[in-house]
Amino acid sequence: MSLYRRVARDYVSMFDPDTGQGLRIKRDAVTGKLLAEDPFMADFPELLDVGIMGHCKHGRSGLCNKAGIGCYQNGFTKDKPNMTLLDFARLAEECEGRTCQFALGGCGDPDEHENFKEILKISRKHRIIPNFTTSGLGMTREKAEICAEYCGAVAVSWYRSDYTLKAIECLTKCGVKTNIHYVLSKNTVAEALQRLQEQTFPAEVNAVIFLLHKPVGQGRREDVVRWNEKEKLWELLGYISENMEKLPWRIGFDSCTAPALLRDEFNFPSESIDTCEGARWGAYVSPDMKLIPCSFANDMSQWEVELKDSTIAEAWKSPIFEKFRAHLRNSCKGGSGCHTGKRDLCMGGCPLTPEIVLCGKD
Ligand code: SF4
Ligand code: SF4
Repeated sequence: MSLYRRVARDYVSMFDPDTGQGLRIKRDAVTGKLLAEDPFMADFPELLDVGIMGHCKHGRSGLCNKAGIGCYQNGFTKDKPNMTLLDFARLAEECEGRTCQFALGGCGDPDEHENFKEILKISRKHRIIPNFTTSGLGMTREKAEICAEYCGAVAVSWYRSDYTLKAIECLTKCGVKTNIHYVLSKNTVAEALQRLQEQTFPAEVNAVIFLLHKPVGQGRREDVVRWNEKEKLWELLGYISENMEKLPWRIGFDSCTAPALLRDEFNFPSESIDTCEGARWGAYVSPDMKLIPCSFANDMSQWEVELKDSTIAEAWKSPIFEKFRAHLRNSCKGGSGCHTGKRDLCMGGCPLTPEIVLCGKD
């Protein structure tokens, strides 16, 4: 696929579908001159997290819990229909030429959706790269071959099981760019550090992406890494920032980790860090067609905009989305302000779960 390039009124954005690399730069809305600054937001979501799954066939057996991960989508109890093919096709049509990637998700493994292959085909037909995360439990050679044909990358959640390793092997053997999604909670940070130091993640994996555990759904508040208990996490971040080039896998973090990554004790280049993208560059669509600034607000009705009554473009400009953005525009500006001097890069961190904002702010 050719390079995605969008020249909007006040920014320019580029995305390479083959490598997944992207670039965004601010543009003077009057003169059109490029400015050496980060633009705040897109005029239409560039990345849509599409919740095609309304229920999880493994949820009731507690798949996530058994793996030590609290399902943020409440898969243990949720029992909604999956997104219909018709609704998905409507989204893809509206997004053509404006959205570069779909992160397929929702409550359950996207590869278990009854129209999995059609969904991937529709995405490509509209020139949108589909990616998704799976537990890997239902992965088969046939599905892996479909992924190789249509997906940009597939992530397997690190559930420390035989099926985790089997799915990684099956996907990589079929030539799929395969990542690990590793949730960092109080109980898992030490293992992450040890696995990086001893290089015991599977060698064939492209990247290990760390995601901060959030107190959402079945994610327990007690498992959040807090500022006063961050020693092991700081050791992990310090190790990664010192050894990034030497590790056999690429390393990434969710944008929710930005307040910690921006701390001066680490050497992560600030050009490679972007803070919360909710309502700025991305959003979540629920299986029943509501646009929500972030998938972690999937059970917070105050952040939903009904897509049955409006287009994505209208929902993106709605007062609900503006309210979400207001947090990112204004946080830590008043009072004693930002104590790290990095407000422009951090924007106050997560608007939904302040307990995950690890910058040292009281
Ligand atoms: S004080 Fe606010 S803006 Fe500054 S680093 Fe902390 S959360 Fe981010
Ligand atoms: S709203 Fe919070 S959980 Fe969602 S992407 Fe932003 S920082 Fe992460």
